Amino acid sequence: MNIPFLDIQASYHELKSEIDAAVQRVLASGWYILGAEVDAFEQDYATYCGVRHCVSVANGLDALHLALRAMDVGPGDEVIVPSNTYIATWLAVSQCGAVPVPVEPVEATYNLDPAKIEAAITARTKVILPVHLYGQAADLAPILAIAKQHGLRVLEDGAQAHGARYRGQRVGGHGDAVTWSFYPGKNLGALGDAGAVTTNDPEIADRIRVLRNYGSRVKYVNEVQGYNSRLDPLQAAALRVKLSYLDAWNARRAVIADLYTNSLADSGLVLPEVLDGTDPAWHLYVVRSPEREALQAKLTQAGVGSLIHYPIPPHLQQAYAGAGFTAGQFPLAESMAEQVLSLPMGPHLGREQQLRVIDAIVSA
Ligand SMILES: *Cc1c(COP(=O)(O)O)cnc(C)c1O
Repeated sequence: MNIPFLDIQASYHELKSEIDAAVQRVLASGWYILGAEVDAFEQDYATYCGVRHCVSVANGLDALHLALRAMDVGPGDEVIVPSNTYIATWLAVSQCGAVPVPVEPVEATYNLDPAKIEAAITARTKVILPVHLYGQAADLAPILAIAKQHGLRVLEDGAQAHGARYRGQRVGGHGDAVTWSFYPGKNLGALGDAGAVTTNDPEIADRIRVLRNYGSRVKYVNEVQGYNSRLDPLQAAALRVKLSYLDAWNARRAVIADLYTNSLADSGLVLPEVLDGTDPAWHLYVVRSPEREALQAKLTQAGVGSLIHYPIPPHLQQAYAGAGFTAGQFPLAESMAEQVLSLPMGPHLGREQQLRVIDAIVSA
């Protein structure tokens, strides 16, 4: 029995009849760009997150990019980003012509360290961009307080945190806006690329609606130089089906996380710590070991899949070679890149498979 890191087809198999019917409905409707199906998903997801507005876009990177544009981020501006994140968070800032300014995480939670933010603020800073990494909410209260004090916006990258809670409230409406990816492997995944922005700010929502559709509100009338970044109705229809299972699937992830945490307490690995007042969505269950390569090799031998999120921090990527960063400049991000390993996690990982993962780790 081989245990994949994630069985991406399993969610389709569980919901096949409902998803097939939803897709058929769109095919038969003859309406293939935006429209009622997309509006309905936006309404459903806004309600789920407990926010006023959801504007869907083509993917999570565009969600970040268009949200930053809607906040008037441009050349000469700086945006505070985590030193340890998926590169999309940084790329969206760079796409605006602005500069990503990295800040290190809290080692226990891997999320942006509020105590290190103020030292990174300059006269050019416009936005603080925390990421709810691995599905756990960043510590938003102190981040929002710092932003308020300095007159900055807060944009949250929620790509890994669908359904996660911070102080009882679902991520989606704490800061000025939250961006979402519905990439197939995320907790809420489409059948292709998809993304969205949620916000309680009607102006931000309106600006993104215009930006995603060629800068146009009325057909062939272009107010700004916009983009083509629309969610298509097929994805919206599939997402509506899956959204109704998100809480149940996240609950299954939480059970797996509990089992891992209880069973691996004496394994010598550094296990995930949950910040008080947060309920993670457990997108990933990430352990840390100085002997990560050997551990991963043994798991592979035992037929257990695992992945590294992420092997190279953004500041050391070739893509940012021109930005003047050096090795050693962000030691926490760098040691994480050397030590983290994500174990199999997902709502369709069976009990027997979970126990096999634990066995493989204990015997490694
Ligand atoms: C997946 C992801 C993104 C990008 O989403 P896409 O839909 O693939 O563009 C952005 N940020 C984080 C933290 C992610 O995990």
